[in-house]
Amino acid sequence: MEMEKTCYSVDQREFMQNEENVSFGSHRGKSHGNGEVERSLRRDLAELAASLRQHLSYQALMGLEWLPSELVPITQVMPDTLDEIRGELGECTRCRLHSNRRHIVFGEGSPSARIVIVGEGPGRDEDRLGRPFVGAAGKLLDRIIAAMGLGRQEVYICNVIKCRPPKNRDPLPEEIEACGPFLRRQLRAIRPQAILALGSFAAQFLLSSQQPISKLRDSVHQFEGIPLVPTYHPAYLLRNPLQKRQAWKDVQVLLSLVE
Ligand code: SF4
Repeated sequence: MEMEKTCYSVDQREFMQNEENVSFGSHRGKSHGNGEVERSLRRDLAELAASLRQHLSYQALMGLEWLPSELVPITQVMPDTLDEIRGELGECTRCRLHSNRRHIVFGEGSPSARIVIVGEGPGRDEDRLGRPFVGAAGKLLDRIIAAMGLGRQEVYICNVIKCRPPKNRDPLPEEIEACGPFLRRQLRAIRPQAILALGSFAAQFLLSSQQPISKLRDSVHQFEGIPLVPTYHPAYLLRNPLQKRQAWKDVQVLLSLVE
């Protein structure tokens, strides 16, 4: 991808810290040919879906319980809201991780976010506070979001699993299987313009892939028609700061996908 040279904001310089100067592409005001058409179609579809939802909500309010042609319960064709998904999750005991958790970390941010950021699972600080990415890795993620020109409240941040594994071990397949469907529903509810998958677990789960993050990154993938950009997890970047440069390139690709 051809990149233009731009000035760094204070936040971008802070994120890159001691990295050498790199030319970054601007995601604003740039013509993307077929990409523009695709985004325009996606925007039209999103507006159509919003109108349909509004119409079905009105019909449900008026007492309609079934759609006549297919006899499908009206609730099945309406995407859940985040509140409904959180309500259904309840005080979840669907996997063994419930036994040691202090808080379920459901996710936070804008329900109409253009970008959803997906990590692996809560750590100690997240479990203590019930919020995603609030520890050291979260502080780096905050800097990345600021370097993107956004506030934390403008994106939505969540994880593949919602309870902390003991000693921060990797989530087990059965835990991902139990918790993962709630993440899928969160993504369907928000329907962002793009997803940033942080680390192998998030990327592999959302792409149904076994490839390591080093193989998955550097490409734009799709999750149910939503562009998905895999990149390194901030915790990995803290241990390998030279990889921040690659992560920033991924973020630039992500920004080129949103309006
Ligand atoms: S990790 Fe997910 S499925 Fe397991 S107990 Fe927590 S909320 Fe439930």
